Amino acid sequence: MTRTCPHSEIIAIKVSDLTVRYDSFVALSGINLEISKGCFVSIIGPNGSGKTTLLRSMLGLANPSIGKIEIFGKSIWDQKKTLGYVPQRFIFDKTFPITIDEFLKFSLRKGTPVSKIDEKLKEVDMVDKKKKLLGHLSGGQLQRVLIARAILNDPQILFLDEPASGIDIGGEKSFYDLLDYLNEKYKITIVMISHELDVVAKYAHRVICLDRKLVCYGDPKTILDAEMVKRLYGEDVAIHQH
Ligand code: ADP
Ligand code: MG
Repeated sequence: MTRTCPHSEIIAIKVSDLTVRYDSFVALSGINLEISKGCFVSIIGPNGSGKTTLLRSMLGLANPSIGKIEIFGKSIWDQKKTLGYVPQRFIFDKTFPITIDEFLKFSLRKGTPVSKIDEKLKEVDMVDKKKKLLGHLSGGQLQRVLIARAILNDPQILFLDEPASGIDIGGEKSFYDLLDYLNEKYKITIVMISHELDVVAKYAHRVICLDRKLVCYGDPKTILDAEMVKRLYGEDVAIHQH
C-alpha cells in the first residue's frame, strides 16, 4: 500500500539548486526537492554520499556554497524554533550525575511550562524513568530521551541522523512505531537518514536517494527496486519486507 503525505499542499522544506562544498570537495551538487508538511521522509545513500550534509544544511548547520533552503517559505534563521534534531551520536560523560528530567530542563525554552517535560516523556514511554540517571540508560532508552528533547518545544519538523536500529525494551512501541505515532498525532514532518531499507519501505512516505546528487525521490514502494538498490549500494543488499 502506498502511504501518502498528509497536507501535501503545504511545503515544509524547499531545497533549491543546493551545492555544498568542503574547500574544493563537492559534497552535494544541484539538489532540488520539496518536502510536504506531515510527510515522513527517509534519506538513503552510500557512505559519504552527502546524507548528513543535506540534513545539516536543512538545519542551517552546513552552509550552502550555491542555492538556498526555505522552511515553510522563510529562511532557516527565521524558523529555527520549528526544527528538532536527533544527532547521529550524542556524546556525554556517562559518570555525570544528571537525571533525565534535569537533562530535559536544559533544553526547555524560556517561558515554556515545566509540565512539557512529563508530557513529552509520556509520549516516548519514559515518564516513569524520569529520575533515572542519563548515564544508566540503555541505547534505546537514551534514544527515546533524545526524541523527547527534540520534540520538547513542539517543533514542526523532526530531523534524525541514522537512529540505531530498533533495539527495544519489550512490549513498548518500537522506535519506528514511535516516530510513526508522532508523525500521525502531531502531523510533524520527519526527515530521517536510514540504512535500513526495510524500515524505509515500511514507514517512509517518500525516500530521497543521494549520491552527491539527487538520484531519485519518491514513493519507496515503487522506487526501491533491485536496480536502484544495486545502483546505490552495489549488489549485496536486499530489501526484506516486514
Ligand atoms: P554521509 O552522511 O552520506 O555518509 P556526509 O554528508 O557526512 O556523508 O559526507 C559527505 C562527504 O563530505 C564525505 O566525503 C565526507 O568525508 C565529506 N565531509 C563531511 N563533512 C566534512 C567537513 N566538515 N569537512 C570536510 N569534508 C567533509
Ligand atoms: Mg552521515
